[in-house]
Amino acid sequence: MRGNFMSDIKQVLVLGTGVLGSQIAFQAAYTGFQVIAYDINDDAVAAAQPRIAGLMKTYLAEVPDATQATVDAAQARLSHSTDLAEAVADADLVIEAIPEILELKRETFRALGDVAPAKTIFATNSSTLLPSDIVDATGRPDRFLAIHFANRIWTSNTAEIMGTVLTSPEVFDRVVEFAGEMGMVAVPIRKEKAGYVLNSLLVPFLDAALDLAAGGYAEPKDVDNTWRIATGAPLGPFQIYDIIGMNTPYNIMVNGDERARAHAAWLKENYIDQGKLGIASGEGFYKYS
Ligand code: NAD
Repeated sequence: MRGNFMSDIKQVLVLGTGVLGSQIAFQAAYTGFQVIAYDINDDAVAAAQPRIAGLMKTYLAEVPDATQATVDAAQARLSHSTDLAEAVADADLVIEAIPEILELKRETFRALGDVAPAKTIFATNSSTLLPSDIVDATGRPDRFLAIHFANRIWTSNTAEIMGTVLTSPEVFDRVVEFAGEMGMVAVPIRKEKAGYVLNSLLVPFLDAALDLAAGGYAEPKDVDNTWRIATGAPLGPFQIYDIIGMNTPYNIMVNGDERARAHAAWLKENYIDQGKLGIASGEGFYKYS
C-alpha cells in the first residue's frame, strides 16, 4: 500500500515536444493521463502540432483497438504550455525530453526545481547521459531518475528505468508501475549503466557489423542475411542503420578512437556524401520507394 509520501500519478508534464517528447506526451495521454507538453516558445509549440496530428494518424493505422474516439480523447487530455511554473504546478511526474546537451538539461532541472511542488517526481529520457550527471541540479535527489523510451513508442514499447544511488526505492517502484500504466514493458535497471540494456547490446552489435563491411570482409546485405537467417531476427544490422539514419552514428564515431574514425570516414564517403542517409532520404544501405 502506498503511504502519504507517494501520491498517485495523474498529471504528467513532458518537457520538449520534439521527436520523443511528442511521442511520450501522446502515449501518456492515450493511456489516460492528463498531460501538459512544455516547450520553450510558441514556434516550438506550433512545430509540435503536425507531430501530434501525425501520431493520431499513426495510432489509427498501427495501434490495435485505436479508434477516432480514442485518439480524439487522447488529444483532449493533452495541452501545451510555454510557462514552466504554470505547467508544473500540479504535475505528479515530469519527463524531460529536451536536446541531449548536459548543461541544458542541468539548467532546465535547476529551473524546474525552483518552481515545482515538493511532490513532483523528475525523470530524464536521456539516451546517453547518466542520471548521476544531472542529479545535483534537481534539488530532489530522492525523487529523480531516468525513464528511457524508444523511438516509435507505441510499438517499441520498452521503458528502461534507472535511478542513482540516491533515488528512493519507493519512487523507483512507482515509476516502474507508471510505465506499465502507460502501456510500456518496464525494464528496471538495478545499477547505473551507460546505454541502459538496449544500447549496451545494440551499439557493439552495430559497430561489429560496420567493422565487417568497412573492413572489406563482407557486403552489408550478406551481413544482414547471415544475421536474419541464422538467428531468425527480423532485421539485420544495416537495416537498423537505415532506420536510425547515418547522421547519428557518424557524429558519434567521428569523435571516437582511430577505428571509430575510420568507420565514420567509410560511412561518409560511401553513403553520406552521396545523400544515402537511410530510410528518411529514400536510400541508405538499401533503396526505399
Ligand atoms: P528533438 O531535437 O527532436 O526535440 C527536442 C525538443 O526540446 C524541441 O522541441 C526543442 O524545442 C525542445 N527544447 C529545447 N530546449 C528546451 C528547454 N530548455 N526546455 C524545454 N524544451 C526545450 O530531440 P529528441 O530526439 O526528441 O530527443 C530528446 C531527448 O530524448 C534526448 O535526451 C534524447 O537522448 C532522448 N531520446 C531520443 C530518442 C530518439 O530516437 N530521437 C530515443 C530515446 C531517447
